[in-house]
Amino acid sequence: MSRFLSERFAELEPYTPGEQPQDRVYIKLNTNESPYPPSPQVLEAVNREQVSLLNLYPDPTCHVLREKLADTYGVEAENVFVTNGSDDILNMAFMAFCDREHGIAFPDITYGFYSVYGQFHGVPCHVVPLTEDYRIHVPDYENIGMHIVIANPNAPTGIALPLNAIEKIVRSNPDHVIMIDEAYVDFGADSALSLVGRYENLLVIRTYSKSRSLAGARLGFAVGSRELIQDLERIKYCMNPYDVNRLTQIAGIACLESDTYYKTNAENVMQVREYTTKALKDRGFVVLPSNANFVFARKPGIEGEAIYQQLRAGGVLVRWFSGARIRDFVRITIGTKEQMDQLLSVLDNERS
Ligand code: PMP
Repeated sequence: MSRFLSERFAELEPYTPGEQPQDRVYIKLNTNESPYPPSPQVLEAVNREQVSLLNLYPDPTCHVLREKLADTYGVEAENVFVTNGSDDILNMAFMAFCDREHGIAFPDITYGFYSVYGQFHGVPCHVVPLTEDYRIHVPDYENIGMHIVIANPNAPTGIALPLNAIEKIVRSNPDHVIMIDEAYVDFGADSALSLVGRYENLLVIRTYSKSRSLAGARLGFAVGSRELIQDLERIKYCMNPYDVNRLTQIAGIACLESDTYYKTNAENVMQVREYTTKALKDRGFVVLPSNANFVFARKPGIEGEAIYQQLRAGGVLVRWFSGARIRDFVRITIGTKEQMDQLLSVLDNERS
């Protein structure tokens, strides 16, 4: 820390991203990326001609992409907000809607960035414990009287809430913004997009980083009432209007033209998830029921960190979190069946 850093940030605890190691080739099951490349349409769209236009700024309104997203999800372009990854939407939403007097509630076990943004923006965070079996207890959030952010499915548990539960939370808090972070929704959970037209306080946040194989391009979008979207735009235009680069906008548009490709990939991931869950259970693991592209698993009698280290030594990277209630678990991204077989064989070797 330099002596110039503003005191405002001296106590901050930044988010720790998953490892992106360069030292050797690992089977990378630690940051919930897709094991599949972007679709052939994307590879074709991001071409020489587009690269040759990089001397020009991108469209700050992301007009074409927004129209296409609006068509795809049955809303108007004015209901769609596009950013450089969905972390940016969360950050801007905390800035737009939360402050010292307007706190936010979220589960004790959830995506680590929520508490980081809370700290970063000086927002009181009301942390609501998950139940003993790691579920969100819906009544805890009804009439809570503050903004809420919920990942659905939740991370790192993978457990999803049904749409009627989300609706109860949204409906009972009409004077607060309810952010539903649907980063993993394409792997078998209910989306709240169908509620957007009915609730002006609902903001659904999506990413292209998981089911759409574009983690490296950085693309996220939110869908909500025109007023909420305008508020987010206000923040964006105070920070970085050109936050979504040209190539990413092109890739995002092409993605929406290859829906079948991505649906098939998501189905494959779901099948491999069931295969992996069973294989882990056969090996004595406890695996939480996942609707995401990862599973959260523990093996009674072995520390989570030890499993993580064993796998790492065997060339397989997974994610371990040191938090009190989850330190026994590892979070394993679902890759291809071959990658999961490799993981299982490392686990088997460690057993013998
Ligand atoms: N929300 C959740 C629950 C996540 O796990 C992630 C990925 N780390 C994100 C949001 C952010 O994704 P991105 O910024 O890549 O869109």
